[in-house]
Amino acid sequence: ERKASLAASTGPGATSDGHKVPLLANVGGPADVPAAVEAGAEGVGLFRTEFLFLDDSTKAPSEEKQVEAYRKVLEAFPEGRVVVRVLDAGADKPLDFLTPGDEPNPALGVRGLRSLLDHPEVLRTQLTALAKAVEGLPVYLEVMAPMVADRIDAKAFADACREAGLQAKFGAMVEIPSAALRARSILQEVEFLSLGTNDLAQYAFAADRQVGAVSRLQDPWQPALLDLVALSAEAAKAEGKSCGVCGEAASDPLLACVLTGLGVTSLSMGAASIPYVRATLGKYTLAQCERAASAARAADTADEARKAAQAVLSGE
Ligand code: PEP
Ligand code: MG
Repeated sequence: ERKASLAASTGPGATSDGHKVPLLANVGGPADVPAAVEAGAEGVGLFRTEFLFLDDSTKAPSEEKQVEAYRKVLEAFPEGRVVVRVLDAGADKPLDFLTPGDEPNPALGVRGLRSLLDHPEVLRTQLTALAKAVEGLPVYLEVMAPMVADRIDAKAFADACREAGLQAKFGAMVEIPSAALRARSILQEVEFLSLGTNDLAQYAFAADRQVGAVSRLQDPWQPALLDLVALSAEAAKAEGKSCGVCGEAASDPLLACVLTGLGVTSLSMGAASIPYVRATLGKYTLAQCERAASAARAADTADEARKAAQAVLSGE
């Protein structure tokens, strides 16, 4: 039965009553593109550009090398959407030339956008390379910054994009609770939000994402995390802008329905999860997803939230 429902699972992501939720792929570079295309991804919702920087941690790759890699990914989705995240170095992804080596708490230190603002030439090269890579392609390019904390961060990123002459939408990842709480203020500077639920959970629960002993707190069904998602999605709706999810949460088919019910406008995940999420989302109406979302938020624990959503969707 599972096979049959997956075989039937093609086309754009939508609820059973036709509310569209684009299903996008998370990719780490051109090598991940074939699987994304095969899974019927409607584009890329998170292009983690760190891979380009891993070969040599003493300096940034040349502009030419970056143009080549970005173009390969952009070319694969003609007429589709590709959301590129600028370099997210530091904490769990240290880079010698960017990451301060002496921080007592690297996850709370100079990482993500913070390191790019400290090294504006690295950000400038990346944005210039993207501007060149997209030239002449019909793709909808969107560029976003990791670890945006507030409106000042969002403005600094948008300014850098404009200065590089980038013809694209500029967005902010919501990975820090302050950004979710003040999403409307961030949206004065950027055109879209994308929730990085892995880091958002880490920072909301003060639970290191790499420490197995606190994994209970990393569960994306935690009602407090759902509240932060809802705040972000509501802010985006009020501003007439989009708010996607690109963290692991999007790859759980049941949770994908709940996120949709919370008002999330696109879901990005590892390619292998796309058919399952598409099939599950297609079984329920938007109103059912909204009821499941309310039930999950009314719960006190992650397990109860999961059971409550399940109960609503299975009609119990
Ligand atoms: C996240 O934090 O949820 C995210 C998508 O980014 P990464 O996992 O690369 O930190
Ligand atoms: Mg992150």
